Amino acid sequence: MLPVVQEEGARPDLRSLSSSELSELVSKLGEKPYRARQLYSWLHRKGAASFDEMTDLPQAFRYRLAAETRLTTLGIDAVQQSTDGTRKYRLRTADGKFIESVYMPDEAGPQSFDPESDEEEPGTRVRRTLCVSTQVGCAMGCGFCMTATMGLVRNLSAGEICDQVYRVNADLRRLGVEGERPLTNLVFMGMGEPLHNYDNVLRSLELLLSEEGPNFSQRHITVSTSGLVPNILRFAQDTQVKLAVSLNATTDEQRAKLMPVDKKWNIAALIDAVRRFPSRQGRRVTFEYVLLRGVNDSDEDAARLAGLLKGLPVKVNLIPYNENPGLGFGDPGAERVAAFRKALGARGITSMVRKNRGRDIAAACGQLAVEGQRPVRTARN
Ligand code: SAH
Ligand code: SF4
Repeated sequence: MLPVVQEEGARPDLRSLSSSELSELVSKLGEKPYRARQLYSWLHRKGAASFDEMTDLPQAFRYRLAAETRLTTLGIDAVQQSTDGTRKYRLRTADGKFIESVYMPDEAGPQSFDPESDEEEPGTRVRRTLCVSTQVGCAMGCGFCMTATMGLVRNLSAGEICDQVYRVNADLRRLGVEGERPLTNLVFMGMGEPLHNYDNVLRSLELLLSEEGPNFSQRHITVSTSGLVPNILRFAQDTQVKLAVSLNATTDEQRAKLMPVDKKWNIAALIDAVRRFPSRQGRRVTFEYVLLRGVNDSDEDAARLAGLLKGLPVKVNLIPYNENPGLGFGDPGAERVAAFRKALGARGITSMVRKNRGRDIAAACGQLAVEGQRPVRTARN
C-alpha cells in the first residue's frame, strides 16, 4: 500500500489544482508533460480515491507525489436511502469534518420533466442530480435552515467540492448505475453559501466543466445563493453556469427576519442584480421560494411575489419546507402550496413546485451532517 497522505500542510492539494498548475508541478518534479495529463485524468475523469489506483503512473512518481503533495479524498461515513431513490451521503473530510451530498435520480420519464427547463428535448435523457456542499456549516444564519445552526466551520477546497461528485459517481457505479459518469446534473444547494466561498467554487466549476475531466455541461450545473449581490454580478461575468436565488420572502421586514443577509442587500438590490444578470437563452435565473406555514405562504405573499417578479425573465421554484425539529417552522401542506401556486399563476407567474425528495430521510439541507457533527461538538465543549 502506498501511503495516503491526508494531513494539512504546505503540500499542494492535487485535486484543487487547475490543469495548468498541475502541469507546472509535474514538470517541477522532472516528469514529462504527458504525465500531467494522465494525472489530471486520474484526479478528475476517473475520480481516483488514492495513488494506488493510478496504475499507469510509475511507482517512483506515485511515491514522490504521496510524499510531496496531498490528495483530497472524502470518506463515505454514512448513507441513507429513501424510498423515492434519493440517497443522502454524509462525507468526512481529511480533518474529520462532516458534509453532505444528496443524490436525486429522476428516471420517471417525460412527465417528470420541468417544462420550463431549457434542457434539450424533454424526456430524452435521464437526470441524475447531485446536490453538493460548498462549506462546512454556513455563516449566513437563515432561521429555517439546519446548516445555519452550525455557523461557518470552514470553506471547502475546490478539490473537496469536486470529490463529492467523484465519490458519489463511484458509489453509483458500484450499485450498477450505467455510465462512466452516472451523474448528469449538479446543483450547488447543499451546506454552505457558494458565493461566500467564491474562489474555490469558481475553481471547482472550472474543473467539473473541463473536457479532460468530468466534462459537465454548463446548462446542467446550477449554483444557488442566498443573495450576495456583488458576487452575483461577478458570477455573471466569470462563468456560464446557471444561477438560482433564494428569495423566500416578499418584504424586507419579513426577509430580514428569516435571512439576515437581507439587511446588507435588500430585495430591491437583489432583484436589480438579477435584472442585470445576462440571461441568454438557457440561462434564466431561478428564484427559489421556501414556503413556511403562516410566515410567507399567504395569497397576499403570492400577489407581492408576482409584483416583484413582473417582467423578469425568471423561473420560480416553490419549495415546501422540509421541517427541522426545533427550528419552529412548518410545512404549509399540499393544499396551501397549490393555492399559492394558483395565486401566482393568476397573476401571470408560472412556477414549479419542487418535489419533496427524501422526506423520509430528512434530506433537507444540513440535516444529516449536523447530526454527524454533534459528537464532535460535545467533545469540544
Ligand atoms: N446557501 C445557498 C445554497 C444552499 S441552501 C442558498 O441559501 O441558496 C439551498 C436551498 O435550500 C435554499 O433555497 C434554502 O432556502 C433552502 N432550504 C434550506 N433549508 C430548507 C428546508 N429545511 N426545507 C426546504 N428548503 C430549505
Ligand atoms: Fe446558508 Fe443557504 Fe442555509 Fe441560508 S439557507 S443558512 S445561506 S445554507
